[in-house]
Order: sequence, then C-alpha cells, then structure tokens
Amino acid sequence: MARLDGKVAIVSGGSRGIGECTARLFAAEGASVLIGDVLDALGDAVAASIVAGGGRCIYQHLDVTSEADWSAGVARALAQFGGLNILVNNAGIGSSPHGIADEPAESWDRTMDVNAKGVFLGTRAAIPAMLDAGGGSIVNISSQLGIVAVPYSGSAYQSSKGAVRLFTKSAAIQYAADGIRVNSVHPGPIVTEMTRAVREDTDRYQMTLTLVPMGRYGEPAEVAYAILYLASDESSFVTGSEVVVDGGWTAQ
Ligand code: NAD
Repeated sequence: MARLDGKVAIVSGGSRGIGECTARLFAAEGASVLIGDVLDALGDAVAASIVAGGGRCIYQHLDVTSEADWSAGVARALAQFGGLNILVNNAGIGSSPHGIADEPAESWDRTMDVNAKGVFLGTRAAIPAMLDAGGGSIVNISSQLGIVAVPYSGSAYQSSKGAVRLFTKSAAIQYAADGIRVNSVHPGPIVTEMTRAVREDTDRYQMTLTLVPMGRYGEPAEVAYAILYLASDESSFVTGSEVVVDGGWTAQ
C-alpha cells in the first residue's frame, strides 16, 4: 500500500522546486494532487507529466494572496477528487536585497503577503473541507531562517518565515481536537530557482556553505520526504512540531 493512498492534497507553489518535487512524490504515493501556482505553463506541464506517468494531478491558477483563488482551488479539489485531506502551504518568494534601513514598506508587505498571509489564507480555506473529512494534515514550509537570523538575508523574509512557524503552532492547538494536524518544515539552503543567484555567485555561495555543517546544499527531494511523513498518517501523533531539514545549520 502506498503511503498516501486515498488522500487528496493541495500543494501551493507546485510548479517548480520543492513544491513540484512534493507533488510528484505525493502522486507516486497514491495521492490525488491539485497544484496551485501563478506559473501556469510550468504547472500545467508538471501536472501533465504526473498524469502521463499514471498519477492523478490537476493544475489550477492559485495566487496564495487571493481569497477568491483559495476558494476556487479548494472547490476544484472537492469537485474533482471528492474531498481534501492534505494542504502543503509551500508557495513563497525569496529575500529582498535591502537592509532594514533601505527596505521599502511595499517590499516588506509583499513578502509578508505571499509568505505569511498566504499560509493563513490557505489554512482558513482548507479547514472546512478537512473538518468534513474528519481531519487532515497541513504542512507549512517555513525555513531555517524562521528559526535563526543571518545578516545577508532580508529581515522581511526571516520575519515572514518566523510568522509561519508560530502560525503553525497556533493552528495546531486550535484544531488538535478536530483531528487536523498542523506542522512546519524548515529547509536550509536547497538547490532550486530561489537560490540560483546565490549559487552562481562564488563568494556568496562559499559563504553560505560555511554555515552548513554538512557542507552542501540540500536537494528538493530531501525536503519532500519530510513533507510526505507529516502529510501521511505515519505522523498521526505529530502536531505543532517543526521538522528541520537544514544539514545542521540551526544546530550550531
Ligand atoms: P521556487 O522559487 O523554486 O518555488 C516557489 C514556487 O512558489 C514557484 O513555483 C512560485 O511560482 C510559487 N509562488 C510564488 N509566489 C506565489 C503566489 N503568490 N501564489 C502562488 N504561488 C506562488 O523556490 P523553492 O525553493 O522551491 O521554495 C519553496 C518554499 O521553500 C518557499 O516557501 C521557500 O521560502 C521555502 N524555502 C526554500 C529554501 C531554499 O533554499 N530553496 C530554503 C528554506 C525555505
């Protein structure tokens, strides 16, 4: 039996990177998956490739800052797959290049809107369907920078990921008695588009490597397997927790 047989999942930000890898893994483990993203061509292609491989997957345009898009996404998952058991709030945008003194308020707001408010809106939209299903699992993708700060990454990004960490615990205790588990995952530096600019800048890349005791960036699959565990019934007594996947970054 596959690890997510019979489950229906929404993965935000699933058109590429960690979200794409998670959607592919979920489908391979028997889940029906709705990918929600703003990169429509990429998302359509990922969904088509999962279906071509024998999986169940659809793509829907879903801007995580839009309440209407979340309503439509949840409604489509219910209509197409008959329920909702898992939500992975993975969509996110990277760090602003500004220090606090130079950070435009609009840039702060945009980061908080996508990375923090998007997680709240997704969670709020999914809860009624999960209550109908008798429970569910919500996995919020924070960051190692939601636990510790570094000087080279913007304060807005780190604050938004810190908000995801505590929102997760708040939601977990509110819905524990209803069987809805809510956990956060904290990746360290991972090989995705989000880190491409840093990885292509030799000095910055070497500097970030000195912060990882394992001495390398992680791969999306190394994060996706942690997400899979929290999404599945294998983690049935785990809620309000934070799973760190960072090569030892926060251990030092
Ligand atoms: P990525 O840029 O490859 O993927 C992010 C995805 O989110 C993209 O498909 C993008 O289109 C989507 N997205 C952005 N804004 C959106 C919006 N408003 N609505 C819907 N979708 C939107 O980056 P990734 O590394 O795969 O990032 C996935 C998550 O992991 C993010 O939350 C990120 O902050 C977090 N994370 C990444 C790293 C890393 O090193 N890559 C480290 C820690 C945490």
